[in-house]
Amino acid sequence: MPHFAYSFSLLQLLFASKKVTTIEVVDQLLQHIETQKNLNAFVNVYDQEIRENAVLVNQKIEQNKGGPLAGMVVGLKDMIAYKDHPLQAGSKILTNYIAPFHATVTERLLAADALIIGHQNCDEFGMGSSSENGYFGTVLNPLDQTRVAGGSSGGSAAAVKAKMCHVSIGTDTGGSVRQPAAFCGLVGLKPSYGRISRHGLVAYASSFDTAGILAHTVEDCASVLEVIAGPDAFDSTASAKEVPCYTNGLHHSARYKVACLEETLSHGGLQPEIKDHTLHGLELLKKAGHQIDNVHFELLKYALPTYYILVNAEASTNLARFDGIRYGYRSSDATTLEEVYIKTRTKGFAKEVKKRIMLGSFVLSASQCETHYIKALKVRNMIKKAMQDILSQYDFIILPTTTTTAFKVNSFVSDPLSMYWSDLYTVLASVAGLPAISLPNGVDQKDLPIGIQVIGNYFEEAKLLTFASHFESIVK
Ligand code: GLN
Repeated sequence: MPHFAYSFSLLQLLFASKKVTTIEVVDQLLQHIETQKNLNAFVNVYDQEIRENAVLVNQKIEQNKGGPLAGMVVGLKDMIAYKDHPLQAGSKILTNYIAPFHATVTERLLAADALIIGHQNCDEFGMGSSSENGYFGTVLNPLDQTRVAGGSSGGSAAAVKAKMCHVSIGTDTGGSVRQPAAFCGLVGLKPSYGRISRHGLVAYASSFDTAGILAHTVEDCASVLEVIAGPDAFDSTASAKEVPCYTNGLHHSARYKVACLEETLSHGGLQPEIKDHTLHGLELLKKAGHQIDNVHFELLKYALPTYYILVNAEASTNLARFDGIRYGYRSSDATTLEEVYIKTRTKGFAKEVKKRIMLGSFVLSASQCETHYIKALKVRNMIKKAMQDILSQYDFIILPTTTTTAFKVNSFVSDPLSMYWSDLYTVLASVAGLPAISLPNGVDQKDLPIGIQVIGNYFEEAKLLTFASHFESIVK
């Protein structure tokens, strides 16, 4: 039987010509999940339900009444609410929590006749870069099971790569969609802050959080973005800007001006093969008629500290709501209210999350606020402005997605600072709130995928996707 899990746009043609049914496709993907359980990509699979929904969607397709994503099988990161289904954000503290409503993203996917297959494993509350920090254990990379799939949306990346679903919806606060996409050889899109509603996403750092898309192709990313983006009465930070038809212009061939950030390529921590492949990718673009210029970005060294100060501050307030009273887990041996709070949070959160809550509370404390939090906000503005300056002269900024390819499981568990380094290139777009996409750009000597990152201007996802699709075709 052929694989029904590569590009959804191809599969749609098979549906239309009645060569394949959604029921067969779902069966195949469920089998892949069953035979690759060791990857630990899913925390919950809704097999019964998706089989029932597949029958209904198939009827719609037969009657030519299917929605734009009819038959697309989608996995959700365990940070995205699916009404009446468990939602744990990879944390013990949300044990037994059932989402009482759909995230806007989920609602829109279902309305477009996508089929939701399950919830995917991740780092606890999205905090991590390797999917080793979650309550449900480590996610393995389908391409080399001694290595991580990246994080925090590692389960979402592993599931698409291992053909367990067509597309995954992850969340990206500082790289959690783009970095696992790079580690697994996929396309990973983080749109502009505010392009997709955050309603129903578990909050990590609210001024950074975005939903994102992991897929095999740029076209699949575009089809999904078209459906899930747009204004939302439940999220005042979701932009009212009109959502263009992203799939329409994908094959338009314009010539663009591209800035390559020198400091990203001369960085000592960059794996040499990634540098070589990035340069090669730029060379291909040049040959295709685009203008490539090297541009200095001296603020690069401030991006990571700025990011980690601000996200920890926001996380410490966002996670205050998990107090043992309102959600999920409550310590059973607490006798006073204060003990409920203390024991629940002590046992409910794991080490990385507790560390970040403490650091976040520290930088917000009266004596530190000015020197840490306020200062980081100022640097954030400087970085934003510097990026905007570049994007006022160039169409795109190009840089590697990660400093290394997928690393071995357990490499950095006891060395979190080194782990943070792997976010060096992804946090830039997050700090600035700009749209960014990671694209496959060859493999290293161990055959591990390398990602290249393209950052576009605010709300110019259509242009970004068109350029990405062009890159995709020239790299092939
Ligand atoms: N690795 C980064 C962090 O731990 C990014 C995570 C994310 O984007 N959710 O904060």
